[in-house]
Amino acid sequence: MVKQTIQIFARVKPTKAKTGVYECDTDEEGLPRLTFTVPRELADGFINNKRELYKFRFQHVFDQNSEQDDIFDHVAKPVIDNVLQGYNGTIFAYGQTGSGKTFTITGGAERYADRGIIPRTLSYIFEEFEQNSERSYTLHISYLEIYNENGYDLLDPKHEAAKLEDLPKVTLMEDSDQNIHLKNLSVHQATNEEEALNLLFLGDTNRMIAETPMNQASTRSHCIFTIHLTSRESGSATIRRAKLHLVDLAGSERVSKSGVNGILLTEAKYINLSLHYLEQVIISLSEKNRQHIPYRNSMMTSVLRDSLGGNCMTTMIATCSVEKRNLDESISTCRFAQRVA
Ligand code: ADP
Ligand code: MG
Repeated sequence: MVKQTIQIFARVKPTKAKTGVYECDTDEEGLPRLTFTVPRELADGFINNKRELYKFRFQHVFDQNSEQDDIFDHVAKPVIDNVLQGYNGTIFAYGQTGSGKTFTITGGAERYADRGIIPRTLSYIFEEFEQNSERSYTLHISYLEIYNENGYDLLDPKHEAAKLEDLPKVTLMEDSDQNIHLKNLSVHQATNEEEALNLLFLGDTNRMIAETPMNQASTRSHCIFTIHLTSRESGSATIRRAKLHLVDLAGSERVSKSGVNGILLTEAKYINLSLHYLEQVIISLSEKNRQHIPYRNSMMTSVLRDSLGGNCMTTMIATCSVEKRNLDESISTCRFAQRVA
């Protein structure tokens, strides 16, 4: 069996519209599939000008009735379990703005059941610490935002007062063993779930401070919440280290010259490029005998370099809004997912 580099899931955001443009079904082999039908009135000027069926296969498709705990159990748990075994892992949310990336990764504030992957992961990990009496664990957290290829520390205490451009930039440094170190990115120890959640909350608050209605920075930046685990078996001196990156990617929507949602062309260019470089890295990891993996092309792939491929588990959730007006973006999200699968 070929070992898959990356596991791809789809999640459909709940919609009230009775669009009938999509269906979660299975293909001839019984594998989960997401199918879009371009309705007649949209076919004009649509991709290929055709009223077509678009069919995409996934590891699993979470329909609009899926709950946060379904996502956690099926998508996140296997990756976390692997991290607890000492291997790095990465979970991405990919999709257009408004399709549910942040809801999936961080969660919604309305109901307790709306907690996303990050709070559930922290709760799961601290529970594991308590139950595992053979190992002693230490947990640290860092929270990085990448905007226009510049890195910012979302847990920097100065963040609150400062403008993004006044903050010290997080920069990459490579040591003689080619390990990447991040300068100016603070790492914070959390000894229990509450401390860890407070760090998440601080980072998310800092992330929103930079936003005004005209300047929705968070949709244009990538955010990487990293859980660093160090552990030692009792009686042993060997230290085991592993990292889990939970990544809320910038909105993947294509941008016309006029600028959609006030996105500037330069920003769109950076987003498109960094998503393209991520795609290139994932694709090249799956190629047999591939010697060179182009990690250095972007900040994100450099940061994630030791957490993609090999024994690391990598998972992507493609989030889709399925209203008619979002049809072409949803199809383009699924196309990206199929290319890296
Ligand atoms: P993105 O981060 O991709 O721009 P958000 O996660 O902010 O999108 O989602 C946009 C809006 O839709 C938010 O108000 C969010 O709470 C809501 N939302 C997204 N996904 C779901 C879901 N699965 N269930 C309920 N509400 C959702
Ligand atoms: Mg978001």
